Amino acid sequence: MEKAILRVENMKARYGPVEVLHGIDLHVNEGEIVSLLGSNGAGKTTLLNCICGLHGAKDGSVWFRDQDITRIPAELVVARGMAHVPERRQIFSTLTVEDNLWLGASHRMPKTSKREIAKEMETVYERFPILAERKWQLGGTLSGGQQQMLAIGRALLSRPQLLLLDEPSLGLAPLIAKEILTIVQEIRSQWGTTVLLVEQNARAALAISDRAYVLSTGTVMLEGTAEMISNDPRVQSAYLGHS
Ligand code: ATP
Repeated sequence: MEKAILRVENMKARYGPVEVLHGIDLHVNEGEIVSLLGSNGAGKTTLLNCICGLHGAKDGSVWFRDQDITRIPAELVVARGMAHVPERRQIFSTLTVEDNLWLGASHRMPKTSKREIAKEMETVYERFPILAERKWQLGGTLSGGQQQMLAIGRALLSRPQLLLLDEPSLGLAPLIAKEILTIVQEIRSQWGTTVLLVEQNARAALAISDRAYVLSTGTVMLEGTAEMISNDPRVQSAYLGHS
């Protein structure tokens, strides 16, 4: 039977007095890639921030691996096995690639030895050879695609069971965007990492997802398997460019 690693129940969120999420229910099963789709302003980023502890003005609950993490701050949520790669990546531009990666693992030390982490870092470098080539370069001097790879590599070093990715292909050239989504798929198959993905490019996201949720002005408009969502006429006309 499928087991949910993440459950979000009746999530409501506010900015000041304005409610922007109106009671969202969502779950992600272990090993799945689930996409969160919807137009600009639908509430996707806010929902991810509510899940990972970055947005406090909320009601409802978040269960991660059968534990209630609704009120747990973001830095402690990471230690429990949930990594978040925010929109626009937010890597440290004045630190080297290597130091950015070390930061991903910082909360695991000293419990996990530096040597052990250095070994894992080698696996990340194998997955992203461009980062190995540029390990002494400052993060801010990488291209957009390379920065995205660094942000994902850094998140992987926190050894997540669940990876939250907010628009990983934002602002990237189409080929690089495609490569990033292929990498997401490979991370799931190589590391067994479960992924909740926010993506503007619905077609590309659905191609790598098992299931998807479509948000519209703070509510779930539609949910189902990637195939069902791809074939839904409303999704086709609004997000997939079909009539
Ligand atoms: P996008 O795809 O454009 O990133 P989104 O689906 O991620 O959009 P959110 O960024 O979560 O949507 O925004 C949801 C709603 O909350 C929008 O109406 C937005 O204007 C509002 N909002 C987001 N951030 C803030 C903020 N800091 N202060 C006030 N309102 C905000």
